[in-house]
Amino acid sequence: MSGSSDSIASRIEDVLARREAAASRAGRHPLEIRMLAVTKGIPPAQVVQGARAGLVAFGENYVKEGLEKISQVTESLGAKADGVSWHFIGKLQRNKARLAVPAFELIHSVDTVPLAKEIDQRAAARGITQQILLEVNIVGEASKAGFTPDAVVAAARAIDKMKHVRLSGLMTVPPLSDDPEDSRPHFRALRELRDEIRRKGLANDSFRDLSMGMTGDFEVAIEEGATWIRVGTAIFGPRPVKK
Ligand SMILES: *Cc1c(COP(=O)(O)O)cnc(C)c1O
Repeated sequence: MSGSSDSIASRIEDVLARREAAASRAGRHPLEIRMLAVTKGIPPAQVVQGARAGLVAFGENYVKEGLEKISQVTESLGAKADGVSWHFIGKLQRNKARLAVPAFELIHSVDTVPLAKEIDQRAAARGITQQILLEVNIVGEASKAGFTPDAVVAAARAIDKMKHVRLSGLMTVPPLSDDPEDSRPHFRALRELRDEIRRKGLANDSFRDLSMGMTGDFEVAIEEGATWIRVGTAIFGPRPVKK
């Protein structure tokens, strides 16, 4: 029963124990590594079970699906919904920034300067500051979104100057592989990019987040400095196939 509340609760416990072990190997405090529960394709009822089992941050890949789920889950959770935050981790079209800005606390996947500009304007119109990360295409895969490692340094400088975004770090999705060790050099490269941007003074003091590591490789990501891990399958089981 991949979706029963018992199995979701016990899977969460398992992932948290693995987080703790990886943090301890790296000499880090486990609470430095926040877990984003990735809920694309997962029905609201299971997200509610996850929240009741202690999950506090959820990540969605599609604006429409995300907005619908936020309202359904919020309604089911009642007062408990106040403790829950929603993040956006998918490809964000510029014309959807208007919808994403009020709904998602952190947008992990800002992949162009014009998108950042659009988010800045939408946030300004609402009188808020939108927290964002820049997505880096760390290997330069043609099929993948994100700044190249060279481009992200210049982009960070430009985007950090925008008044209604708070640039708090970098995100990456390394190439798919069965061996988590294959991701290690890419995670390390993302950390080094963050350190370079900080060292050169190109971003504000809160620029320190590294969103990296999924079900297959989150322990390696923690060892290499992740501050957000994005975990779907290990919590909710395999995603239902899209109809
Ligand atoms: C789907 C997704 C995840 C979660 O993947 P799992 O392998 O199920 O943990 C994490 N990050 C992004 C950007 C995703 O699209």
